[in-house]
Amino acid sequence: MENCIFCKIVRGEVPGMKVLETERTLAFMDIARDVDGHILVIPRKHCKSILDCDEVTLGHLMETVRLVSRHLTDHCGYDGVNLLNASGESAGQSVPHFHIHIIPRKSGDGLDTWPSLPGAQHPLEETFRRIAMK
Ligand code: 5GP
Ligand code: ZN
Repeated sequence: MENCIFCKIVRGEVPGMKVLETERTLAFMDIARDVDGHILVIPRKHCKSILDCDEVTLGHLMETVRLVSRHLTDHCGYDGVNLLNASGESAGQSVPHFHIHIIPRKSGDGLDTWPSLPGAQHPLEETFRRIAMK
């Protein structure tokens, strides 16, 4: 995609601190500077989100997420990771090229990466009946 910022990083037109490059994917440092070690993993092939990503691309993406996560825990002093993703503007996605955020975690680091949600409005059974895949 011509004007996609992450496609530009894939093509080398915009610099990116690449943590891992594979044939089909890229992992690079997020520029947000919100927490040390914030990494983004993307497919080289442009898709917008989980909603339009094909199965093969998704498989490669998740394998790279696993490799980077294992690298962080095995070699970089971290104990775990949070994986975050926003798919769609309504979910808060700001860059429309599919990406998984990896936030490395250490025991007792005090980070709060889990959103505080407002509480369900409908009975669980009712929502279940509405969304169950038959
Ligand atoms: P989203 O809000 O779509 O889930 O996340 C987009 C992420 O992309 C943000 O965390 C933001 O900091 C990051 N980002 C936006 N532009 C660039 C860029 O040019 N380079 C890098 N490395 N990260 C970017
Ligand atoms: Zn793109």
